[in-house]
Amino acid sequence: MTSTFDRGLVWFRRDLRVADQAALHHALASCRQVWALFVFDTEILDPLLARGLVHDRRVEFIRASLVELSDALGHASVDGRAKLIVRHGLARTIVPQIAEALRVDAVFVNRDYEPGAVDRDREVAAALEAAGRALHDFKDQAVFEKDEVLTKGRTPFTVFTPYKRAWLARLAPPHVDPHPVERHGDRLAAVPDAIDRAVPSLEAMGFAKTNLADLDIPTGISGAHRLFDDFVDRIADYAEGRDHPARRGTSRLSVHLRFGTISIRALARCALDLARHAGHAKGAETWLSELIWRDFYFQILHHRPDLADGAAFKPRFDRIGWRSDAAGDEAFAAWCEGRTGYPLIDAAMAQINGTGFMHNRLRMITASFLSKDLGLDWRRGERYFAERLNDFDLSANNGGWQWASSSGCDAQPWFRIFNPVAQSERFDADGAFIRRHLPALAKLSNEAVHSPWLASATELRKAGVELGRDYPMPIVDHASARRATLDRYAVVRG
Ligand SMILES: Cc1cc2nc3c(=O)[nH]c(=O)nc-3n(C[C@H](O)[C@H](O)[C@H](O)COP(=O)(O)OP(=O)(O)OC[C@H]3O[C@@H](n4cnc5c(N)ncnc54)[C@H](O)[C@@H]3O)c2cc1C
Repeated sequence: MTSTFDRGLVWFRRDLRVADQAALHHALASCRQVWALFVFDTEILDPLLARGLVHDRRVEFIRASLVELSDALGHASVDGRAKLIVRHGLARTIVPQIAEALRVDAVFVNRDYEPGAVDRDREVAAALEAAGRALHDFKDQAVFEKDEVLTKGRTPFTVFTPYKRAWLARLAPPHVDPHPVERHGDRLAAVPDAIDRAVPSLEAMGFAKTNLADLDIPTGISGAHRLFDDFVDRIADYAEGRDHPARRGTSRLSVHLRFGTISIRALARCALDLARHAGHAKGAETWLSELIWRDFYFQILHHRPDLADGAAFKPRFDRIGWRSDAAGDEAFAAWCEGRTGYPLIDAAMAQINGTGFMHNRLRMITASFLSKDLGLDWRRGERYFAERLNDFDLSANNGGWQWASSSGCDAQPWFRIFNPVAQSERFDADGAFIRRHLPALAKLSNEAVHSPWLASATELRKAGVELGRDYPMPIVDHASARRATLDRYAVVRG
């Protein structure tokens, strides 16, 4: 095969794998020699350090995944000498510099839809172009992106079910076809000594080791495949098991989808395939729907970049007067630290604070609690999740928060307010999740564990719980908070 370019550079961002990687595939197919680069971007990392968040599991996850990616590039190259070039600094300037140092003709990337990333890529493309180089971008993160799935009137969908129908109807090769990279391994080039450097340590970048290694969050390409293999065996139970946080009912692949250690096309292909098998069909179809939600929120953000600046999807929800007094600040601190007095809320916050993960059902309940029980602006919770979630993704996080607070597209109706105790009794009936994350409540009965303030003095004494000492009293009364919320939300009527 003839090559269009002599030299190419693949700039990895949230696509940390070799197999079925669109930009890598296109670079290898069109260049005689190809190098690979990742930049720990200070534009993203410095704001975390400025907020004192030195223990960031995502930075550790990425670093471990890069080490594996570098080895995988070596294995994919014919002489075994290819590896990943890794830098720590401002991507906007480093990418054109490395392109210059390697004298490449073109840089290859997979598209990122977040407004900040779009702006960065525009600037990098301009700098490359000024030096006579091209930036080529490809779809890799989503199955369908931007305007690929539109209504009959050629407008973006804002309701999920018809979007899903149109998504499924449009699904055909090449959208889920793999991008083979193996056949051009001879084009992966060794890194010149002048450019080669060790992957920077966490400490060199200002970060510190986290508890990631003690959690069940395997990193890199191998970690993604381990989780997926484990999940495929359980997918038949997904539709039923996914709502119970104490069970291992979901895939836990979100952090891998966030950083691209596994291909979304490969997952969609597999889900479609399993959906055709009796026995797996319901679970696989339900799981595929969740992958479609991911595309749905990507395209929403693409069409509404103002959401990244805090706009409510439905502008009339910006009329709501949120609580902003000192008591509201204290309630927010209690929510963040898991001391609201509602066990399921506090156990969920212990999960996110201790592991960087939170189960989907709990994300919905804690988000609803923040906006509809505490009367706080959902953007405060959105920011907190953005800093803590390993899988943080602007489009899904914003979509989830606007769903729960009712301002989003296809959201929970504003007058529907989760009862945190009823949700707890329904989805953690035996309190297994609460007990796991709140050991102080471990000895309470299945009835009392959801609402300890209603337990008898004898039961509390027997379980070794003194309210106010071992566990807080509720910071709000749900019934009165509900009435206040219906009043607060009245401005969105009509
Ligand atoms: C308030 C709130 C905030 C959220 N923030 C994020 C976020 O920052 N990043 C994120 O990836 N997901 C977010 N979600 C969606 C969802 O909670 C997580 O994707 C899911 O819990 C991840 O667990 P899993 O990988 O086991 O999911 P599974 O149930 O196995 O689902 C498979 C994959 O589908 C995707 N997915 C599932 N549900 C959704 C959804 N509702 N929206 C978009 N994609 C979805 C994820 O990539 C997930 O890994 C949020 C939801 C809410 C309600």
